[in-house]
Amino acid sequence: MITRDRIVQTFLDLVGIDSPSGEEDAIAGELEHRLRALGLQAVQDAAGNVLARLEGAGAPVLLSAHMDTVEPGRGIKPRWDGPDIIRSDGTTILGADNKAGCAVILEVLQSLIEDGGPHRTVEVAVSRGEEVGLVGAANMDYSRITARVAIVIDSGGPPSSIQGQAPYHYVYDIEVHGRSAHAGLEPEKGIPAVTIAAEIVAGLPQGRLDDETTGNVGIIRGGLVRNAVPDYCLVQGEFRSMVEEKAETLARSARRHIETVQARHPGARIEASIRMAYPGYRLEPGDPAADLLYPVLRSLGFEPNPHPVGGGTDGNVFRGHGIAAVVIGRGGYNQHTKDEYLVVPEMLDCARVVEAAVRTLPA
Ligand SMILES: [Zn+2]
Repeated sequence: MITRDRIVQTFLDLVGIDSPSGEEDAIAGELEHRLRALGLQAVQDAAGNVLARLEGAGAPVLLSAHMDTVEPGRGIKPRWDGPDIIRSDGTTILGADNKAGCAVILEVLQSLIEDGGPHRTVEVAVSRGEEVGLVGAANMDYSRITARVAIVIDSGGPPSSIQGQAPYHYVYDIEVHGRSAHAGLEPEKGIPAVTIAAEIVAGLPQGRLDDETTGNVGIIRGGLVRNAVPDYCLVQGEFRSMVEEKAETLARSARRHIETVQARHPGARIEASIRMAYPGYRLEPGDPAADLLYPVLRSLGFEPNPHPVGGGTDGNVFRGHGIAAVVIGRGGYNQHTKDEYLVVPEMLDCARVVEAAVRTLPA
């Protein structure tokens, strides 16, 4: 049975282990230890993600969360705010994003094991580096994962709060190689990489392009000193759209634009990589994740509330690997702020929903 005191204690224990992105060794070790204590074969893959498996019946379901947290996330001191809410002391985040997701997975496994009874095979993947670009999920050992459907426990709000639509995300790296020269003595011998990069930047998609498409130049880096023509400039950015064709069109026109700039500056060498970082999706009936979760939510009295999100989660990466993922709420609010808090009954509801989903054997 999902047990409130136990899941709360697990959550508090996990929050007590600092795990800012890039410093996940301690939390990974703790998760591995706890999974093994439950009798699961737990391992860390080459990227340090914690993977585990609990045998059951029927096609496996992947349960996933991430173990890293954002800053300020060191020395977190959780405290109760009334009977149902846990906050930090106001100087750090709380880390419910995503220690609550980790606690839900551990509680569901414990409940499955101690109650016995039929359930699907459960695969577990707790990722590193989610908050810094889905790094763990991108480098996960997918040869160890056979599930074609996943529940990613990493959204704010109650479990009915589902990330129902996420954008296609494209990223680019553009390098302009020019030629340096003394800016005062012989500038005509130089090929000014920064100026050429500026021409490129001026033609890249930026800001809100329409109600489902955005673009951003995030980094421009070049030049060393004031009095030399710069021989190098790097431009990095991204664009996103809920519609794959729109994102593809932006990628094509960005490439054309860069070719035009290159033609204007034959002495420069421009190297551009524009690529899809992860695919978007829209949860619709017939999607294996929606078909798994929606009936379970309704049977427990929750009406699924899918909403679009502008960012990516590990769920996007899983979809890129052919795993139909759904991202559900686990009771956190004000994520990535010092006002972050956890509504304990919603974390419990999330655990009940996830357990019920895993106990639903395919017909
Ligand atoms: Zn998260």
